[in-house]
Amino acid sequence: MVNQFQKGESLKLYRLKPDEPDLLEGKRIAIIGYGNQGRAQALNLRDGEKEVIIGLYPGSPSWKKAKQEGFRVLKDEEATEWADLISLLLPDERQPQAFQETIGPHLRKGQTILFAHGFSFNFGLISPPEGVDLIMVAPKGPGQLLREAFIEKAGLPCLVAIGRDYSGEAKPLALSYAQGIGGKEVVIVETTFEEETVTDLFGEQVVLCGGLVELARSAVDVLTEAGFSPENAYFECVYELGLIVDLLSRYGLSGMRERISNLAEYGAYLTGPRIIDQGVKNRMREVLSEIREGKFARMWIEENRRGRKEYLLMKEEEKKSLLNQIWRRLSPFIKRGGRRFRENSLHHKR
Ligand code: NDP
Ligand code: MG
Repeated sequence: MVNQFQKGESLKLYRLKPDEPDLLEGKRIAIIGYGNQGRAQALNLRDGEKEVIIGLYPGSPSWKKAKQEGFRVLKDEEATEWADLISLLLPDERQPQAFQETIGPHLRKGQTILFAHGFSFNFGLISPPEGVDLIMVAPKGPGQLLREAFIEKAGLPCLVAIGRDYSGEAKPLALSYAQGIGGKEVVIVETTFEEETVTDLFGEQVVLCGGLVELARSAVDVLTEAGFSPENAYFECVYELGLIVDLLSRYGLSGMRERISNLAEYGAYLTGPRIIDQGVKNRMREVLSEIREGKFARMWIEENRRGRKEYLLMKEEEKKSLLNQIWRRLSPFIKRGGRRFRENSLHHKR
């Protein structure tokens, strides 16, 4: 049924055949939430002539936006009852309560629930009734890029996993959905709820949003402490990061090395392993085990229960940081570079 173009030891990569039956045809799709993912997925599915409505809570600021953009909007309860397939695209921390109060009680056998991230199900925060299929289609990128990649036929990869399959159709439906939101060029990676949840949290904490930012921040601190100008430090350690990451994703590791100077390359081989040493790796292992055994998930749930005080405090503190101050000074000059970087990152089709 699928064209499997490569098989690794633990994962499968797919691209659907052009004549693949589309299981979304004739299905009613309710997208719950109209934020980053909800909006992008709803627009992509509608462009593919799928029957889509939006589910929101009364008083949601997103309601007006979804209506203005031409969607029929219903309350969560009504949208759940109307649909065959319910896409849970509301924030992870709000899923358990919504599930208990407005979505769960309105489910019936034969429906399918779809997640874009495995957090709620993997950590046992929701318990769906029997007879309801559970699937995950997790686009590997922000909603805005999912939308842009769909329009440009650039094929953002999607992870697909099956949680429960009462109908026997969970997998082909998940694959069709991935194609519905990702377009014909979509690359589909088969995984499990656990693997997606753990690797996603680990990746964003250790590299993408946590580790990488602290690495750049520390380097800017060290340079400015030593008397170098903040602007220069920023260009070297933050601005160029975007360009290097872009080369890495477009041309691979060796391809990136070929596009930097011999001098930069030699320095990288010597210094990289001195910075990221065994001590750093051991702390990565600690983080991984805390994520796996649910410690981090419990902290986030507790934090939400306490009204997110600590989270909001850290957010406010960061707004005052040196990196933000330099950005405010430089942003009028570097906007174009930023835009060009985003456009480039859409074009790595391989
Ligand atoms: P956002 O915060 O961008 O959007 C949330 C949307 O849900 C808003 O429209 C919000 O409405 C609405 N909402 C909040 N509570 C409810 C409720 N009880 N019922 C209905 N709607 C509600 O979320 P994201 O798009 O970032 O995340 C959604 C899911 O996608 C998560 O599982 C996330 O992990 C996953 N994901 C997100 C990615 C991303 O690009 N950010 C990437 C891959 C996966 P209002 O604003 O009006 O309150
Ligand atoms: Mg992620």
